[in-house]
Amino acid sequence: MTGRKRVAFGRINQESNSFSPVRSTVDDFRKTHLIQGPELLARCSRGGTEVEKWLDDAELSGFVRAVEEVGRGRVEAVPLLSAWAIPGGPLTVDALHELIDRMLASLAAAGPVDGVYLALHGALGCDGVPDPEATVLAAIRDRIGPHVPFVVSYDLHGQMTPAKMALVDAAVAYRTNPHRDHLTTGSRAGRLLVRTVLGEIRPKMAWRTLPMAGMGGTTIDLFPTMRPVFRWMNRVEREPGVLDASLFMCHLWNDTQHMGWATVVITDGDQPLAERKVDELSDLAWTVRDVPPPAFPSPAEAIAKVRGSRLRRRLGTACMCDASDIVGCGSTGENTRLLGILLRDAPDLVVYCPLRDGAVVDQLWDHPYDQEVDVVLGGKLDPENCPALPVRGKVTRRHRHTALGRMIVFEVGNASIVLTEEPPLTHKPDFFTDLGLDLWKADIVVVKSLFPFRLYYLRWNRMSLYVRTQGITDLDYFLRQTFDGPIHPQQPLLDWRPRDAERRAARI
Ligand SMILES: [Zn+2]
Repeated sequence: MTGRKRVAFGRINQESNSFSPVRSTVDDFRKTHLIQGPELLARCSRGGTEVEKWLDDAELSGFVRAVEEVGRGRVEAVPLLSAWAIPGGPLTVDALHELIDRMLASLAAAGPVDGVYLALHGALGCDGVPDPEATVLAAIRDRIGPHVPFVVSYDLHGQMTPAKMALVDAAVAYRTNPHRDHLTTGSRAGRLLVRTVLGEIRPKMAWRTLPMAGMGGTTIDLFPTMRPVFRWMNRVEREPGVLDASLFMCHLWNDTQHMGWATVVITDGDQPLAERKVDELSDLAWTVRDVPPPAFPSPAEAIAKVRGSRLRRRLGTACMCDASDIVGCGSTGENTRLLGILLRDAPDLVVYCPLRDGAVVDQLWDHPYDQEVDVVLGGKLDPENCPALPVRGKVTRRHRHTALGRMIVFEVGNASIVLTEEPPLTHKPDFFTDLGLDLWKADIVVVKSLFPFRLYYLRWNRMSLYVRTQGITDLDYFLRQTFDGPIHPQQPLLDWRPRDAERRAARI
């Protein structure tokens, strides 16, 4: 009789933005989520909170559930290291190597394993390391050898490369945008790995890289442009022999030559079927290459829309996405441009606005409540995009957040500015409500979140407005990079195949 199979699981996840002047360190993970061993297993088991404050059940919980449900006592989940940081600037080389060393140490401590699962983002950046997640995967592959099954999951905004794909047996991505399937993505990865180590399936993976970026309309899976593509993926898995399908719509703000969408299909032992199906998926995804993203209104147009929507404001609030400073896409959170315009042009409206300024938080931390004071916001981390903004106001609240550090509510007229030390991740309303700010009372709630806020603010949000000023998450900022060849639609391409063949053959 053979013993139980052992499958190890871990995570290194940060969505990085190459245009941020801020560098990410291991400390950024420590502040947010850096755990391993028995604590990780407990948090990913039923009733546990996987990523405290942010996600109750994410990929690793889904993985552990799949091990229980599919493994049925024949397979054991073995925890490694789990590291997650708020999106930000690229990692330092030291940070990347420290995380890899810690992951390898946890793998060594785990003893022999029959399979490994890793949850990555797919858009991790690192100074001087062109494909840092491939470096992570290569380090693990090197340790476990070429024959131990290795499965990885990604955010669908991950950037796929030949190196990343060559190092694993199966890669899967979220299948919702805004993302609401972290748990099921981990389960999909878990099922693939558990069934593989039990000898029930033999995954064969095919992938394509599509030379297109920034298209697909809103890229929201529920909206008409992308819905047929997501439906196709859900459907194809019910076909005989097909195990899984994924689409990657890439991250626009990383300095990568390989910028572009990607598709993946995994079958049970049938490589030609995987190749045929992934071509089908690629052709379907290619049909949206000319659907531009929505045009974002100017701040003046957005303010006019809010003013014209009295009823909606009475029944809730307007969520204004600061599209030039999306912390969820790795921006600094320091951008003062939209705030400056709201203070100048909409002093009559009740505005809640987050802003990162650790120096001012420090300056005001002991300042008495309700006593007016002059401060200069912004202009510290990224002065070109986030110019200094002098304001006069008063401190009305202080708060210590477990991940975001010290926070202050600074009132300037009708505006409540939430000052933070760390990047203000605002995708959940408790960012404001923890500070006693009542969302029902706001005319405008500024969020530095691209998609997720649309889910979490549903109760209050009567109008989503995306506003562009100037900053590192502008949708055309990525065009400053040089690519390895033409990318549609910057240089119009009729067929994805020649560039795909060239890129996959280059193996870089
Ligand atoms: Zn994403």
